[in-house]
Amino acid sequence: MSAPRETTECWNCGQSESFEINGYQFGDRLLEGVMFTVTFKDGQVVVTCPGWGTDAYIKHLNIESWCSDIQERMNKRPNYHDDCLYCPHCKEWMA
Ligand SMILES: [Zn+2]
Repeated sequence: MSAPRETTECWNCGQSESFEINGYQFGDRLLEGVMFTVTFKDGQVVVTCPGWGTDAYIKHLNIESWCSDIQERMNKRPNYHDDCLYCPHCKEWMA
């Protein structure tokens, strides 16, 4: 069990419900431009992919496996500043 992450809030608007993350930093060009949704629940990261099922390119990926892989990798990093998160509310990158 990994250590709980610190509370994550957008430095700009303060929301902490959900963020987006570009798959590029986890899967290089294979996941370039594929956006994953990151939510925080009980100090742990939960990763989903909203394009799953609708996006033709994403359909070809083993996206379920990627989601759990990214989730696992993010949960091993207690400092959220190591992740380049995108706030969909105020459209700012948090890095
Ligand atoms: Zn924000």
